[in-house]
Amino acid sequence: MDIPRIAELPATLASQIAAGEVIERPAAVVKELLDNSIDAGAAKVEVEIVQGGHKLIRVSDDGHGIHPDDIELALRRHSTSKLNTQADLDCITSLGFRGEALASIAAVSRFQLVSRMAGAPTAWCLSFDPVGEHASLKPTAQPDGTRVTAADLFQATPARRKFLRSPTTEFVHIAEVVKRVACSRFGIAFTLTHNGKIALRYRACADAMEERVGDILGAPFARQALKLDNTAQGMRLWGWLGGSAQTRSQSDRQFFLVNGRVIRDKKLFHAVRSAYQDTLPTGRYPVYLLHLEIDPSCTDVNVHPTKSEIKFIDNRAVYDFVLISLKNALGGASALLPATGDAPAQSAPARPARPQPGLGATMQQVRETLPFYQMSAPRQEQDDLLTDKAGLGAPLATLAGRLLLTRRGEDCVLVNFRKAWRYARRHQLRRDYHGKGIRHRPLLVPVDISVNASTLDLVEKHSALLERFGLSLRLSAADAITVKTIPTLLEQADIKALTAAVLDLLARLPEPAQHVDELLQAMTNSVETMAEATTPAGMQALLDDLDRTDLDTTQARHKGLWRTLSSAELDKLIDG
Ligand code: ADP
Ligand code: MG
Repeated sequence: MDIPRIAELPATLASQIAAGEVIERPAAVVKELLDNSIDAGAAKVEVEIVQGGHKLIRVSDDGHGIHPDDIELALRRHSTSKLNTQADLDCITSLGFRGEALASIAAVSRFQLVSRMAGAPTAWCLSFDPVGEHASLKPTAQPDGTRVTAADLFQATPARRKFLRSPTTEFVHIAEVVKRVACSRFGIAFTLTHNGKIALRYRACADAMEERVGDILGAPFARQALKLDNTAQGMRLWGWLGGSAQTRSQSDRQFFLVNGRVIRDKKLFHAVRSAYQDTLPTGRYPVYLLHLEIDPSCTDVNVHPTKSEIKFIDNRAVYDFVLISLKNALGGASALLPATGDAPAQSAPARPARPQPGLGATMQQVRETLPFYQMSAPRQEQDDLLTDKAGLGAPLATLAGRLLLTRRGEDCVLVNFRKAWRYARRHQLRRDYHGKGIRHRPLLVPVDISVNASTLDLVEKHSALLERFGLSLRLSAADAITVKTIPTLLEQADIKALTAAVLDLLARLPEPAQHVDELLQAMTNSVETMAEATTPAGMQALLDDLDRTDLDTTQARHKGLWRTLSSAELDKLIDG
């Protein structure tokens, strides 16, 4: 069998790796050993713990094992089989890559590694005693796979041993790690025992993922959760979302994985929290299990000692994708997810189809096969959203079908939501027009409009320009045109009104291509109903969209769009 061989990292690469002391408690040992078993392609992993890991931590797997010539190398710092070149470091698909974990664990425990490569005549056992710094390698009997034991953790370093909590507490942390890792690989069976008793047991269930979701988050959650599966822009977000009936008083049941890696990332948590914002009672936390799949070359996992944080090359696109996917799913507005081409709109919730992240595909390959869903803003705006700015505040209600009432600190803000909506859309469309192009979606039922001969001429003359605005118009008869596509962002538009307004401008403007703003205004003004803007999620989305325009939403007022009423002004309204 061809198994990856271990080598010491070249100094140039080793120096680029975010070094870190990874072993601060037993749970960290378990995490690193589980990562190694997964990277070795294990189908079954057993974790044995004695006394909360104070006494013993053992992880056994049936993975590909280690080549007998490499076993000693595995213990050396910066020795790994997962990274060879700079290019590998830029596109990490394995969980490990630093070649440090075994060395760090061996340095603080009585360490033993037994491994048998599939097909090898024997297993080899490497023991290392940090006190005597003595290593020994002997042949031994063991089935294929690897078993790593770390006993008497921190015995030689009393200062660190002092920081260990009680076995019960340490075990809680270990169980948490096993649960999180189990969320990441449905196809692997996991068992956790404590002092000889089974504490957790998860069967492999790649084809019945709800089973694992039920095991980890509870059967009622698995039954009631909203399933989400949304693919766009080379990213896929799938998983299970708890509704408002399944909230918790703490944030302990929130699982977010990126390319199968358990992540605790502020930006991503923020995106999820924002999506849930309107549907949760204060002080309650949602329950969810979400997998984000993204081309690994668009991420950097080499930023944090425990690899629990991740950097995205395009933070903003990822943030938007997560936020909007969740908002649509939670707001029940999944049908609004845009698609182009012949593919039907991806609708959520849907059953996640693939059991494991598609780590192999490049962004390019993914793009080619997926509907295009563009949401991202220019790079310089990336971090705006991540800084909790007040903007126009939090939505409270709609008034008289026209106004959106929000609360911003002590003040209230009244927003003309139709105007705000149109403004925000215009801004997005303008940006797309000058950037990646305005997205369009085909109409399921194309709309026929009768027109006169001079309009037919106009349509023919300006068809290329119209396409750039997302409008595809075809002559369908001597006196009629057919509207085949409209801009995705304006799908609620009255299509006849929108087309008429645009054609009217084309007739009046000598050089319509010079009047992008007027054309966009005509288009956005033809949208009258913004039903989704009156749902809680829709209101928040509108405020967020407005925040992303060129307007300074922290200002007290903007003529025609919003106005702040201070508490004094509110009092005056009544007191006269
Ligand atoms: P890393 O995972 O970052 O490469 P580690 O110190 O965790 O570094 O492991 C060093 C090497 O030992 C790995 O690259 C891998 O080749 C080998 N190894 C460790 N654990 C296992 C395992 N359970 N099965 C097979 N190989 C393993
Ligand atoms: Mg490792």
